Amino acid sequence: MRYAIIADIHANLAAFMAVLVDIERRGEADEVWCLGDIVGYGPEPHQCIELLRQTNHICVAGNHDLAAIGEVDTFEFNPDAAAACQWTARQLTTQDIAYLKKLPLVTEKGDFTLVHGSPRQPSWEYILSISAAKENFAYFKSKFCLVSHSHVPLIFRYTKTGSCSFSQFSTNKELALGEERLIINPGAVGQPRDGDPRASYAIYDSETRKVNLYRVPYDIAATQAKMVEQRLPIRLVARLSHGV
Ligand code: ZN
Repeated sequence: MRYAIIADIHANLAAFMAVLVDIERRGEADEVWCLGDIVGYGPEPHQCIELLRQTNHICVAGNHDLAAIGEVDTFEFNPDAAAACQWTARQLTTQDIAYLKKLPLVTEKGDFTLVHGSPRQPSWEYILSISAAKENFAYFKSKFCLVSHSHVPLIFRYTKTGSCSFSQFSTNKELALGEERLIINPGAVGQPRDGDPRASYAIYDSETRKVNLYRVPYDIAATQAKMVEQRLPIRLVARLSHGV
């Protein structure tokens, strides 16, 4: 079975569509695993939820999904994110809201735990350091954990000797799953922050036990034009060009 691991679509329909086309081009996926933040920041929240729902998928809730339906406060958001969140809330249909409300914070699938932020704090914690990763290995039972939230593709390893290491997850590095427990971040579809503006996602092949990362160019200018049209904060528009 092949699983497409996607995260942080952030209402960027052009990026999401480019990723779905790329998945198909590479031989399709039996199921899509989405790690949350379908909405927030971008100009097409309703369309992204609708498109995700057309795929065979499972999904966990991200902090932006919860904020858009009023389940969490936006006080921890910066002013741009909060403004985009208020705009997003006005775009959602009752079906969109019902769909987001039903999303779990954590879900398990075979050897994997899926969560948006971290297994310890599903919607808010960023795993960007070895110390944060090391502590979080105690908070999930499965061998592997898939996280997003930081929008940076990363791999954290927990070795048998109890030490933890990390490496960038890049397109030229095929990840072979073995005995080591791992926390894996596939990067962001709709708002990458690792300096590469291309959409990021991964495919897990359960037969070969390998995970590959892919980067996909998309029409950034088209998404930016829609954001400007909707008067979304200009800094959110600009960052898409640089992938930061
Ligand atoms: Zn996000």
